[in-house]
Amino acid sequence: MGATESFTSTLDIGHHVGGRDVPGASGRRQAVYNPATGAVARHVALADVSEVDAAVAAAKKAFPAWADTPPIRRARVLNKFLGLMNEHRDTLAAMITAEHGKVFSDAQGEVSRGIDIIEFACGIPQLLKGDYTDQVSTGIDNWTMRQPLGVVAGVTPFNFPCMVPCWMFPVALATGNTFVLKPSERDPSAAIFMAGLLREAGLPDGVFNVVQGDKVAVDALIEHRDVKAVSFVGSTPIAHYIQERCAHFGKRVQALGGAKNHMVVMPDADLEQTVDALVGAGYGSAGERCMAISVAVLVGDVGDRLIPLLAERARTLKVKNGMEADAEMGPIVTKQALERIEGYIGLGVEEGAQLVVDGRGLKVPGHEDGFFTGGTLFDHVTPAMRIYKEEIFGPVLSCVRAKDFAEAVQLVNDHEFGNGVACYTRDGHIAREFARRIEVGMVGINVPIPVPMAWHGFGGWKRSLFGDTHAYGEEGVRFYTKQKSVMQRWAESTAKGAEFAMPTAK
Ligand code: NAD
Repeated sequence: MGATESFTSTLDIGHHVGGRDVPGASGRRQAVYNPATGAVARHVALADVSEVDAAVAAAKKAFPAWADTPPIRRARVLNKFLGLMNEHRDTLAAMITAEHGKVFSDAQGEVSRGIDIIEFACGIPQLLKGDYTDQVSTGIDNWTMRQPLGVVAGVTPFNFPCMVPCWMFPVALATGNTFVLKPSERDPSAAIFMAGLLREAGLPDGVFNVVQGDKVAVDALIEHRDVKAVSFVGSTPIAHYIQERCAHFGKRVQALGGAKNHMVVMPDADLEQTVDALVGAGYGSAGERCMAISVAVLVGDVGDRLIPLLAERARTLKVKNGMEADAEMGPIVTKQALERIEGYIGLGVEEGAQLVVDGRGLKVPGHEDGFFTGGTLFDHVTPAMRIYKEEIFGPVLSCVRAKDFAEAVQLVNDHEFGNGVACYTRDGHIAREFARRIEVGMVGINVPIPVPMAWHGFGGWKRSLFGDTHAYGEEGVRFYTKQKSVMQRWAESTAKGAEFAMPTAK
C-alpha cells in the first residue's frame, strides 16, 4: 500500500489466538466506522468468556518455552518484528486514519513512537542483567535475577491503536511473558495487523494473542486466575475500576487514566512559538490525545496579546479527511464522541465562559456525514466550571487567566489530573521552579507535548495513573518481571553446627 492509499477492507475483524486469526464465535459484534465518511466500514467481534479463556490457555501453553528462551534470542525475534513494522509503517498509519480519523502524518508519527519501544525492547539482554555481590558474608554470594510473570494482559484505548499496545507488549514479550491484548473496539484493525507481523517475525504460536471485545472480555481477563498482571490505558473511571478489580484478585496492575493538561504561558514567552504550540497540542489529533493541551493558563497581560492570534488560527484550521495531504485536523472517532464534545461546548456557554471560536456544526464538503467539528476556543474559563474540571477529549481549548506564576502553579496543582503539563517562558529560573514545584508526571519546558522517549517511561500523577509503575522504559521492565534474590555458599565455606540466631554478616 502506498503512503496515501486508504485502508478500505470490509473484512470483519476477529481474534488472534495461538498464532492464527480466528473469527468471533460469540454472536456479538460491533460496527467499526470510518469517521471521515460516517459509514460503517466493517464489524469487530466481541469476545465472550470462553473466547478469552481460549486466548489465555494459548498464552499459558506458550509460556514455559518462551520464558526459557535466552533473552538475546527473544530480542532477535523482536528485531525482525522491528524491521517489519518499519516496512509496513504506512499501511498501519492508513489503517489508523481510516478507523480513528487522525491525519495520516500524525498516524505515521504514532507508529514511529510505537516502533521506538520495540527498539528499546531489543536491548533486553542488557536490561535483564541482575545485581551480584561477591562475599555478602564470608563464603556467601548474593545475586538477583528478574523473571517473567507468566500470562499478562493489556487493555488499550481508541486514541493510539498502535502506539499504546506498543507501550506494553514489546517489553512484556522481551522479558519472557506471553501476552493477551484487548484493543479498543472502535479501531481494532491495527492490533490484528501487528499480530500477523509478529508471527511473520518468527514469534512462537500463542506468545501474543488478541481478543477483541468490550467490558465482558476485560472482566474475564481480570478475573482469570492465569492472568498475572494487567496493563490498562484509558479513561479515569475505568482505570480506577481496573485497579480496584485487580487489587481484589491480588494482581499486579498499572492503569493509566485521563488528563486535563495545562500550558502555563508566562508574559515573556515567544508569542509566535506559543501560538504554534497551543494550536498543535490543542487541536492536533482533534484533541483526542491524553497529552493534548486542553487548558492554557495565561499569566499577567499575555492573554490580551495571545487570544486574537489563537482565535485566528483556530478559525482557519484545515479540518478534512485525514488522508488529504494538507489536513491539519481530522474527524472525531464516533458520532457519540462528537455529540459529547459539542455538548460540553454548550455547557461552557451556559457556565459563562466566553466562546471566542465555536467549532460546532462544521460540515466538510464531500464528507457531510463525517463526524467533524471545528476547533473551539474559550476564554475566561474559571476553575469552578465543568469545562475546566472534566476531560472533554476533543478540540476545545479553554483559556484561564492567572495574575502571576504562583497562582498558575497553584491552579495546575489543584487539578485532580496530573498527566502532562507545559510552561512557556524564556526565564531559566521560572522554568526550573516550574519543573520542581509542579504536581504532574510529565513536564515540558517550551515543549508542548512532553511524551517521554522509549527508555524514560510514561506516566502521570494523581488520578491520571493508578498503580506504582509507569509504562515502558525501565519501569516497564520492572512491571513485567519479579525479582528473585539468590544466596549461595558451598560446603567448604560452611561452618559446622546449627545456628539459631538471625544470620548476620560474618
Ligand atoms: P475507555 O476507558 O472508554 O476504554 C479503554 C479500554 O477499556 C477499551 O479497551 C475499552 O474496551 C475498555 N472498557 C471500556 N469500558 C469498560 C468497562 N466498563 N469495563 C471494562 N473495560 C472497559 O477509553 P477510550 O475512550 O478508549 O480512550 C480515551 C481515554 O483514554 C481518555 O480518557 C484518555 O485520556 C485516556 N488515555 C490515557 C492515556 C495515558 O497514558 N494516561 C493514554 C491514552 C489515552
